[in-house]
This record gives sequence, C-alpha cells and structure tokens, in this order.
Amino acid sequence: MAVSIIILGAQGRMGNMLCTLAKADPDLNLAGVVDRPGHEQGLERWGCLTDTNLEAVLKKTPMAVVIDFTAPEASVATAETIAKHGNPAVIGTTGLSVEQLDRVRGAAAKTPILWAPNMSVGVNVLLQILPKLVTLLGEKFDMEMMEVHHKAKKDAPSGTAVKLAQVMTEARSWKYDTVKCCGREGMVGARPQEEMGVMALRGGDVVGDHTMYFFGPGERIEVKHQAHSRETFAQGALRAAKWLAGQKAGRLYSMADVLA
Ligand code: NAD
Repeated sequence: MAVSIIILGAQGRMGNMLCTLAKADPDLNLAGVVDRPGHEQGLERWGCLTDTNLEAVLKKTPMAVVIDFTAPEASVATAETIAKHGNPAVIGTTGLSVEQLDRVRGAAAKTPILWAPNMSVGVNVLLQILPKLVTLLGEKFDMEMMEVHHKAKKDAPSGTAVKLAQVMTEARSWKYDTVKCCGREGMVGARPQEEMGVMALRGGDVVGDHTMYFFGPGERIEVKHQAHSRETFAQGALRAAKWLAGQKAGRLYSMADVLA
C-alpha cells in the first residue's frame, strides 16, 4: 500500500522537488501540502489537501508521514505538533540550535521522527568512513573543511558541514564546539594543533559542495562531495519517509538507520 505523505514548506526549493518526485512515485500518496500564510498561492496545483496550518491537514490524514524542509523554529513546532497526533515526520531542516534539536528529540520519544542535515547516500557513507580515515592518518594531519552553497542559504556553516566536522573531531576525541574555527583574519598567529577550520562560501545557485582537507607533512588528502541536484536530497527524504512509516517512537532516527 502506498505511504501517505504531507509536505511542509511545499513552496520552497526542497518542497517543490519533493512534491514533484512524490507525484511520480507509485509507492507514495501525496495527501497534503502546507506552507506558511502568504505563501499558499498555487499549492492547489498538487491536487491534494492544501493549508497553511499543519494541524488542520493532520486531522484529515491520520498516520500520514510529514516531510518538513522549512526553518528551525517551524520544524520544532512540527515535531511538537505531530507528537500530539502520532504522525511520523522526516525533518531535513538545518541550522537548529542545541536547544531546538533537544526539543525535536523530546518529541521523538512520543512519535517516530527522523532528522538528518543531509539525506544523500554519498554524505551518509562519508559520515561512516571519515572516522577511520582520521584515525589512520593520525594527529600529524591537520583537518580543515570548506563548504559552498547558493546565495539564498540562511545558515552557516551548513548543517552537513557541522555534522561532518563533528564526526571528524569526535574521531580525535575533540569537541567540535571547542576546536572549530569559522574564520581567520589579521594577526591570528600560528594554527593551534587542536583546531578545525570550517569555512563557508556563498554564491550563485550551488546546490552543496563539501571539501575536507587533511594536511600532513609533505602530502595532503582532499575528500570532496558535490551534490549536483536537490533531487538527491529529496529522493533520500522520500526513502526515509517510506522507512519511517514502519517504525516505532523511542529515539531520534537518522539516515544511518535507513541505510543500515
Ligand atoms: P526555502 O527557503 O526554499 O523553502 C522553505 C519553505 O518553508 C518556504 O516555502 C517557506 O515559506 C516554508 N516555511 C517556512 N516556515 C514555515 C512554517 N512555519 N510553516 C510552513 N512552511 C514554512 O528553503 P530550502 O532551500 O527548500 O531549504 C529548507 C531547509 O532544508 C533549510 O534548512 C535547508 O538548509 C535544508 N536542506 C536540507 C537538506 C537535507 O538533505 N537535509 C537538503 C537541502 C536543504
């Protein structure tokens, strides 16, 4: 049976891609589309329930999986709303604070929720193999990262960059928040050994590039991931929605659970 889904933020870059792909997928039923007030014009083109209020659609579509690519405060509200109704949700929004992510985690105790700052297979495989690379190279290799995104992106560094950097620093038993360096200017002095630069470039329509540098004595390795299209993230989110429909609440799921 097809899995019913509701797309929140349907008028956005990711929302539009998700609706297009969901309509073409026989295993999915696009049951509802929601965007915020003032952004609802044209939602009816998707031929399903439309609203500016998620709760109104949830009441008509029990158990539909919500897919939310919106903004941090909106995604926290989504998590807390679906926790009351028992619908599952896949959340792809980035830029959530530690406190906001804790609130999403709290809701995940009551209803199935998956949050991932990047839904692509490539990045999620990288998250699994990077700790091994970091460990094998050893502490003589300095780690830095550069990420590039389109000029409309609101958060920096990207959620993907933060996640990749967390995995890399944890592999050295460092805390990302303590060792991160998100910009250098002026007489900053020599680079401390326990530091990780994470630099953000913005411009044009770049979907998302992440380059991790490992600078060693006399050599360096660069690991690069480039997303060519938002379709790769949207396909990952739809795959996650199908998977989440069969899961129980308890803990906040990630893409690693889907790919396992
Ligand atoms: P966008 O600005 O194009 O779209 C966001 C949409 O959400 C807009 O239509 C906006 O009106 C809507 N929205 C905002 N607040 C809302 C609310 N309270 N209720 C309903 N709708 C609301 O942004 P985008 O490029 O589509 O990205 C959205 C988010 O997804 C960002 O945080 C981005 O970083 C993230 N993202 C994640 C992945 C991933 O793989 N996890 C991939 C790409 C983008």
